[in-house]
Amino acid sequence: MQFKNYINGKWVTPQSEKYFKNINPADKNDIIGEFPDSNNADVNNATDAAKDAYASWRRTPAPKRGDILRIAGDIFNRRKDELARVMTREMGKPVFETKGDIQEAIDTCYYAGSETRRLFGNTVPSEMNDKMNLSFRVPIGICGIITAWNFPIAVPSWKIIPALAAGNVVVFKPSEDSPHSANIFAEIMEEAGLPKGVFNVVHGAAEVGNSIVEHKDINLIGFTGSTKTGNSIASRCGQLNKKVSLEMGGKNAMIVMDDADLETALDGIIWGAYGTTGQRCTATSRLIIHEKVYDNFIQKIVEKAPKLKLGAGLDKTTEVGPVINQKAFNKISNYFDIAKSEGLNLQFGGKRKDSLENGFFIEPTLYSDVPQDSKLFQEEIFGPVLVATKVSNLQEAIDAANNSKYGLSSSIFTNDVRNSWIAIRELEAGITYVNAPTIGAEAHMPFGGVKGTGNGHREGGWTVFDIFTEWKTVYIDYSGSLQRAQIDNY
Ligand code: NAD
Repeated sequence: MQFKNYINGKWVTPQSEKYFKNINPADKNDIIGEFPDSNNADVNNATDAAKDAYASWRRTPAPKRGDILRIAGDIFNRRKDELARVMTREMGKPVFETKGDIQEAIDTCYYAGSETRRLFGNTVPSEMNDKMNLSFRVPIGICGIITAWNFPIAVPSWKIIPALAAGNVVVFKPSEDSPHSANIFAEIMEEAGLPKGVFNVVHGAAEVGNSIVEHKDINLIGFTGSTKTGNSIASRCGQLNKKVSLEMGGKNAMIVMDDADLETALDGIIWGAYGTTGQRCTATSRLIIHEKVYDNFIQKIVEKAPKLKLGAGLDKTTEVGPVINQKAFNKISNYFDIAKSEGLNLQFGGKRKDSLENGFFIEPTLYSDVPQDSKLFQEEIFGPVLVATKVSNLQEAIDAANNSKYGLSSSIFTNDVRNSWIAIRELEAGITYVNAPTIGAEAHMPFGGVKGTGNGHREGGWTVFDIFTEWKTVYIDYSGSLQRAQIDNY
């Protein structure tokens, strides 16, 4: 089947007349369809449509915009089962996880939709008589949204829904690995009643992303993806004076202290490290264990993780799906070679799943006693690969966790209130979990990272509106005469 772009409320073939194939990572013979390999002309058309639509969308009362977005939440809910299966087929994670992915979009629609009645500004006294000062949020304009594939609905929704709520219009380039979900996103927006041109989808790869970044009428870039791509987009946006918000890579650490509840920590590490096949920006990829419980805890993981059932996510019994594509499969396999050359201690895994040769399946993997200067300790692998390191006290644990260029999520398992608060204060990460793994964000809380993970913005919650709005400052003088600030009143 051949899919189309969604521009100005219509499904259109690409100007490029080119297409790319998308396949099911659990079964390379299952071709999902052909999607537009769009070009600059397609981005121009989408941007022109967005520009026309902006004139009236930004003037639509914010609560009315919110009404449409809450209806979109209802439709996501109604189509949850069907959409979850589409997502699983194109990116691999089990259906119970893709349903969770959609739930984040539903939560975001309801939350951001309601926030349209609370886009608070500030009204403050003037320093002069008979004068009033106020400030309020205004939209930015056309937002170019470029995203990764691992949360095909949740991640786009974290950007698109608040952007629209704030009165912006959107040109969306989904990942080339999850294009089908993006078309259903557009169908839902249309059914919810979004006017034509307010939301547009242009499929394609880096070239389309690049055209969006370069387009003179696109005022803001919202990006989720690798740190390498994000950094190059950010430098270009710097030159073009465009606002850019980046959500990038992670190498998230979980600390297990000697007083931790080890059974809960075990459930936590299995879910944090191997859930979503380790392909979450917040996945737990480094495990830092107190020496007093180190051997015991490693043994518990060795007994449990290799029993996880690998398979196609559409199979109800599957616990761990495939990795996304051949490139990811090769990248992870290369890390297994690096681990051999570094002489790392392999506890289990470290290879493809031989019985599932039709898809990109990699066995859950654990390396123990991994030195902190190992490439596997430092680099984002984005697969079901966990490295464990031994420490002798809390400070060593925190230092090990902070020994990373990334700073997205972090976690500590401990029953000691002092350990918890010291870790919360000292861990260099945008998010810290206590007695939970590094994953589990909720739509109404700020989300994002420090260091190599982000550029100071937070999606989610109330903070996302700082990305998608600017401030208008207003002075109203009703004195009837000219009052010169700082001159006539001092
Ligand atoms: P990627 O950087 O390769 O691609 C991300 C998006 O950017 C895709 O849509 C891609 O087509 C586009 N793109 C690629 N090159 C481009 C260019 N030169 N100009 C414009 N656009 C370009 O990332 P990926 O492999 O798809 O995703 C995995 C990465 O995403 C991981 O590093 C993961 O940690 C990160 N991620 C981060 C978060 C977060 O919230 N921090 C969430 C999910 C994923």
